[in-house]
Amino acid sequence: MNQRLWGMTTRSWADENAERFAVKDPAGKVHPEVYNSFTKSPCASMCMGTPFWRGKYAGLAEQAVNGLGVDGIYMDQACSSLACYDPAHGHPLGGGSYWMGGFRLLQADIRERTKAARQVVLAGEGCGEAWLPHLDLMLSLQVSMERYAQPGAWEPIPFFHAVYHGHGTFYGNYSSLTMPPYDDLWPAETAPKEPMKLLDQKFSAQFRLEQARAFVWGQQPTLANFRPSQFEERAGEIAFALRLARLRMQALPWLQQGTMLRPPATGLPDEAIDISRLSIYAGQQEPLKQYGKPCPPVLASAWRAPDASVAVVLVNVTDQARQLSLHLDRATCGISDTDRLSVLTADNSHSGCAFQADGDQLAADLAPEDACICLLGSRQLRK
Ligand SMILES: [Zn+2]
Repeated sequence: MNQRLWGMTTRSWADENAERFAVKDPAGKVHPEVYNSFTKSPCASMCMGTPFWRGKYAGLAEQAVNGLGVDGIYMDQACSSLACYDPAHGHPLGGGSYWMGGFRLLQADIRERTKAARQVVLAGEGCGEAWLPHLDLMLSLQVSMERYAQPGAWEPIPFFHAVYHGHGTFYGNYSSLTMPPYDDLWPAETAPKEPMKLLDQKFSAQFRLEQARAFVWGQQPTLANFRPSQFEERAGEIAFALRLARLRMQALPWLQQGTMLRPPATGLPDEAIDISRLSIYAGQQEPLKQYGKPCPPVLASAWRAPDASVAVVLVNVTDQARQLSLHLDRATCGISDTDRLSVLTADNSHSGCAFQADGDQLAADLAPEDACICLLGSRQLRK
């Protein structure tokens, strides 16, 4: 449920005289925004600084939670804020704290209206410092940015995670094994011949890279466009995603509640993989583009749990066995000479990891598409 847009061609826009409470520019004008590439329907951004809009949205949220029984609401386009110049709204003109003050009131109102039914989960779009106290989940699609961004323009890094992990839950991934879904409300001539056709398996390394990034960065796993038939049609890819999800469940003190440390260098050179690029929702009108991109074959991160124990997280993205040796910083990882190594794997299998405390070296022998979590110290493991 978009938390700031109102369709300007809807009956309610006129009936409720919504334009009064829309965001205005310095000349007092509304700036329509168009997102639906088929209908070109204009939308207006409503002003978060007005009790009218907050009450309207909280009322819709109340219906969704109490009436329809949903567990949570994805509040599209939070985290973004606009400058409003409407003097009738009663807030400072242009910039100010009224947008965030309004959002704080909005989320509190939604939680109050729904608390008898359930503890509602509120999610926002993107990561924003100011929204951290007010949202439970933050959509962090950058783990899959090759699907939508121009090649070579950006390289995603877990900057926000490194600073704020533990203060919110980051989730979301365009990681998909299929072409984007089609909406029956779109023009019939744009319908695909094969709905949600499986992508070529040469893009499976991209899928694993996206799942692995989310995992080592401590994000909640997300799988886009999943169909039960993929258990058979893409058994290896789904098994990989499930392996990471199960491993994460054993390691929540680090990957959910922990603090991200400087990631250890694997020493392995990047290797080119096939990348598919296709907009996730306007994809019906354009062909899939593809290119090669050098990517790390093994992803690594390091985490400190609230009890100060440190875990090194490793994922082999490739379909070949990999050997590597990581140098661990003694002070950062809290390594003492008596530290022992224990290793978590998804299926409690034997791991090919060894730790030499005197040299601060962690040696890992990873099977194809394997993942493990190396725990340093004497912490008791949950089996
Ligand atoms: Zn305003």
